[in-house]
Amino acid sequence: MPGEKLYAVWKVKSEMTGLRLISIFLILFGHPGLVQGADKNKISWEKVAEVFQGGLVQVKVSGPDLAEVEGRMGSERVYFYADGPHALRAIVGADVEAKPGVAKLFLRLTGRDGVQHKRELSLRIKSKAFRQESFNVPPNFDQMTAETLEEIRREQAAFTRAFAASVPERLWEAPFVRPVPQEASASSFGSRRIINGTPRAPHSGTDLSAPAGTEVVAANQGRVVLVGNFFFAGGSVVLDHGGGLFTMYFHLSEFKVQDGDLVNKGDVLALSGATGRVTGAHLHWGARLANARIDPMELLTQMSAEEPPMGARNVIPNEREK
Ligand SMILES: [Zn+2]
Repeated sequence: MPGEKLYAVWKVKSEMTGLRLISIFLILFGHPGLVQGADKNKISWEKVAEVFQGGLVQVKVSGPDLAEVEGRMGSERVYFYADGPHALRAIVGADVEAKPGVAKLFLRLTGRDGVQHKRELSLRIKSKAFRQESFNVPPNFDQMTAETLEEIRREQAAFTRAFAASVPERLWEAPFVRPVPQEASASSFGSRRIINGTPRAPHSGTDLSAPAGTEVVAANQGRVVLVGNFFFAGGSVVLDHGGGLFTMYFHLSEFKVQDGDLVNKGDVLALSGATGRVTGAHLHWGARLANARIDPMELLTQMSAEEPPMGARNVIPNEREK
């Protein structure tokens, strides 16, 4: 069937803890293929999930006769993977600039007898109050020469290529780990930036305080899909964790991996630095799920058994992108 390839289904076993969870219960009375008509199948589930801009939420579908779940939101596929013998689970994110309101998550559930059921879930996207930062940079950082614009185009194209194809298999396992030991620096995820009086794109990651030369480790298992040096992001590594989930590491000074490498959680990717357009050494850590820019700290808090981070430690304030 031509449409089939647009979906992917995970059947790997997983253990996840510390979740915000939305459960959808699929209750099949008997085998739909053997009974008279679909009215014999009673399906019930929670129909609404909530997520903040830049946040994550988990969606669970369960039922004794459930074999597969395939999901789609807008033009993006949502990957489900097995979570015990009778359940499947997906993580869904809302972009940092997602319009508050209701988005639809379309589900196609397949029973063990092959009978399919179409269902939908309303994802309520809630607005979040992000900080606003105003600062000035020297005019030469703001006025682009032809060469700079060409550099920026090259940067955008490289990232677009990296994000274009995520492997369908889930490579990661909870929990996610911090890429550097230090806490968040001055510039948090989603900050609305006004540079030299002009509103700019919101901050699409979290800046972690990291003195130059700090080892930057993989937040989880993944495939290296980009290693390069760029105008804004400086030395950059992007990992594909499968199922449309990527993490990004910017302003690096020295690479320890190559494009195509499969890395494990905790493997050193690079050393931190102050490359690209920054005011000083730090690690910009970013995450992307189904092309939504999400707060990477959500991976630590929502996908992990770890306690939320204790108060700030080892913070060097005010280092950020320019
Ligand atoms: Zn940053």
